[in-house]
Amino acid sequence: MPLTAQHAHAGVLDATVEPLGEGTSWKAIHRARPRAPLTCRECGHGLHAKLSPRGLRFFAHDRAAPTCSLVGETMAHRLLKLKLASAIREAGWYAELEVAGDGWRADVLATSPDGARRMAWEAQLAQVTVDELRERTARMEASGVPVCWVTDRERPWIGAVSAIRLSLVDEPGPPAAVDVTVVDGTGVFRESWCPRRRCENDGGAPGPCPGHGWWRPAEPGVGLSVFVAGVLTGTIRAHRTPRYSRLFLESARIVWTTRPHVITERAQLVASERRREHDDLASAAHERHLAAIAAKLARQQALTPPAVDLVGREARGYVGVRDATPEWAMGVPLFVHDMPQGVISPVVSRVSAEVRMQFRGLTMFVATEAERRALARACGPAQRIVLFEVEIPGEPRAADTAVTYRRAGRVR
Ligand SMILES: [Zn+2]
Ligand SMILES: [Zn+2]
Repeated sequence: MPLTAQHAHAGVLDATVEPLGEGTSWKAIHRARPRAPLTCRECGHGLHAKLSPRGLRFFAHDRAAPTCSLVGETMAHRLLKLKLASAIREAGWYAELEVAGDGWRADVLATSPDGARRMAWEAQLAQVTVDELRERTARMEASGVPVCWVTDRERPWIGAVSAIRLSLVDEPGPPAAVDVTVVDGTGVFRESWCPRRRCENDGGAPGPCPGHGWWRPAEPGVGLSVFVAGVLTGTIRAHRTPRYSRLFLESARIVWTTRPHVITERAQLVASERRREHDDLASAAHERHLAAIAAKLARQQALTPPAVDLVGREARGYVGVRDATPEWAMGVPLFVHDMPQGVISPVVSRVSAEVRMQFRGLTMFVATEAERRALARACGPAQRIVLFEVEIPGEPRAADTAVTYRRAGRVR
């Protein structure tokens, strides 16, 4: 049951305004004798003006109407269309009802005062699939007409397409008095940061806070007139959020929001990116650390045979190779008759004053000139350091020879 009708002489009549069309008042067509010549713009069948028990004006199909998409419209649907048209007119735009376009029909078509911009507002109360709405949205957008889908129920397509849910307070009384609020489909971004630029949320490792803000509908709801005016003037826009809420279930969503919220969300997206970079660097540093340990072990292994050989000859005894411990700055200690004689490749940064005392009188074994110099700096000039140019597996060397190690290294 439509809100508009084709009048044989006066053109299109709109039941939501007064007069309804060119000089035609409601009085002139409602219960008029003789009947006003009205037909349905959709199916061409006869229509008559009618008043709902609550005083809402509309047009009803005459008896024996054919199948017409406007016949099934409920009172709630008509009320919603009326509310949308009123809000559009309040915002200073033109509102036309039941307008046919290229492969679509808009419930309410809003046109800017200069006629340059159009936007459709669709009262979608019946069940419909997300795919169907996406298809209809695309058809309208192809005509340069963006659309906002409007319902008064919880629907899975809110957020999947640009849509809003209204709380339609269904109280008895004149339709104009019915209060309508937008309760879903809008979005405000609630930012949330950990203090002191350190993240202690989500059980993560220390590092910059990626932000823990989330989107949620504006509360309390926005009045429909304020919302419609905001959308038509461009202060409220449909924004596609990369991630809607803290729950991963609620992924990308289209929300109607204002610029400050989009900016706040962007700050979080930048911070999250920074956090990801931090984590990547941390894991790279961890890998470098592991690689350094592996290289150290390989060096100590390669140095062991020539070091054991030298210590055994000098101390004249069986050489015991013991575990690398902090006491030896993670170097491998060599013992003869239970007395320490030498240490293989200790970690220079671990040579403390205490370790330096331990090393006194012992022979250090190193594999490179750089290692020798660093260790000499850490231990002092009195420290004896022997360099064996050994081949270390997995460590390519410039002058790679067939010799595994030089027996008589440089002894000082
Ligand atoms: Zn019809
Ligand atoms: Zn945090």
